[in-house]
Amino acid sequence: MLATDTRQAWIEFLEFVKKRLSPTAFGNWLAPIQVIETSDEWLHLEVPNVFVKEYLLSNFKKDLCSFVPVGSDGEPLIRFSIAPLSKSQEKNVKVELQESLFTSQPSPFEVELNPNYRFDNFIEGPTNQFVKSAAMGIAKQPGHSYNPLFIHGGVGLGKTHILHSIGHFAREKHKKLKVQCITTEQFINDLVDSLRNKSVDRMKRFYRQDVDVLLVDDIQFLQNRLNFEEEFCNTFEALINQKKQIVITSDKPPAQLKLSERMIARMEWGLVAHMGIPELETRVAILQYKAKLKGLDLPSKLAFYIAEHIFNNVRQLEGAVNRLSATSRLLNLSLTEEIVEQALKEMFQHNPHKRISVEQILKSVAAVFEVKISDLKGTVRTKEVALPRQVAMYLACKLINDSLQMLGVSFGKTHSTLLHARKTIEKKLAEDELLRRQVGIIEKNIHMD
Ligand code: ADP
Ligand code: MG
Repeated sequence: MLATDTRQAWIEFLEFVKKRLSPTAFGNWLAPIQVIETSDEWLHLEVPNVFVKEYLLSNFKKDLCSFVPVGSDGEPLIRFSIAPLSKSQEKNVKVELQESLFTSQPSPFEVELNPNYRFDNFIEGPTNQFVKSAAMGIAKQPGHSYNPLFIHGGVGLGKTHILHSIGHFAREKHKKLKVQCITTEQFINDLVDSLRNKSVDRMKRFYRQDVDVLLVDDIQFLQNRLNFEEEFCNTFEALINQKKQIVITSDKPPAQLKLSERMIARMEWGLVAHMGIPELETRVAILQYKAKLKGLDLPSKLAFYIAEHIFNNVRQLEGAVNRLSATSRLLNLSLTEEIVEQALKEMFQHNPHKRISVEQILKSVAAVFEVKISDLKGTVRTKEVALPRQVAMYLACKLINDSLQMLGVSFGKTHSTLLHARKTIEKKLAEDELLRRQVGIIEKNIHMD
């Protein structure tokens, strides 16, 4: 096909479509498309926005293929560019925006903030206080510090909680600011709906002009959605350029998301903060706080017991409190370790009865190092026994969730001897490949025991 033929083919395609669409639809979607350049192998089109491209490809791809050049993969060989906004278009947008300020309808694009997700009831500890203080800084002065703030971390660790907390705080402190919270899934659905209802401009206006603080939850849903990603990226840049605050949450750090380099670079512009798994004491504090809200009497010994067995998801800690509260009300009993274990056994991440014992460790260590268990327990200080003994102590510290004092008693040693053994072996492991392998085998044997 010659270049002129390609241009002609496009004109024929337009004529073909014109017969099949209403004049308004044709005027809205197809008429604004400009041919920039053609060759015998491809067609370069300029579209006013990504939605026109989306519309064209989702409704007429098959027909297009009968007219324009097609690649070996069966896709039409069309390059698309997005037209920049002209001065008059910009003016129109502004006028419409001012008009929209007088309409008091709630925006269809907004997510309600969860009334329980506030800074006040977010329990902080060493692994999440950085995120919380960054979030508070932003809520106090949106657009003035880090932009965007990118929060990443595992499921159920409080990312959405912090995101909504920013929303509440910013709304209360800055009454004039427009704070919008969206999920990424919803952003995509809004785009699709707007395409269908031909209200794309309204939606674009909403996201790009009608928002001072945009809170975006779960950006990972943008992965593998190329066209939506492009539109999101444009929105993102438009807001950042106007010094509007953006906060994004994700289950992974930016560089690990399957998104374009452009998008990843944008997300790394500001502050990337990791929401870690709360450590034991914080988990206990969360349990006690949630129990108090429910009017459940949860002695701290039991809170520790639960926190030791549910360790990587705060939502599950909440679930545990809810279940215990129901159980204790139903049975009309105060909680004991047995009741707790019974009620939560499916939630516990390993069975408390399958606890590893010092005896198991000694047995495995003795077998791999070919020494006697009695020697490991004794006081002989020869090199052949001293190293395996320290390995046993190291593994006890690593695998058994008891205090050093308690473990010390099992070995007949003081806690400082255990601490010293742990440090010595940790250091040796970093340098000694053979020892690493031996310890690996011992651990495997213990777990299979
Ligand atoms: P994510 O968005 O990271 O998956 P959520 O924000 O939905 O997690 O949190 C899950 C649940 O755990 C929510 O009910 C939230 O209130 C609660 N939660 C998480 N972290 C904390 C915390 N540090 N203090 C109090 N509640 C928390
Ligand atoms: Mg979430």
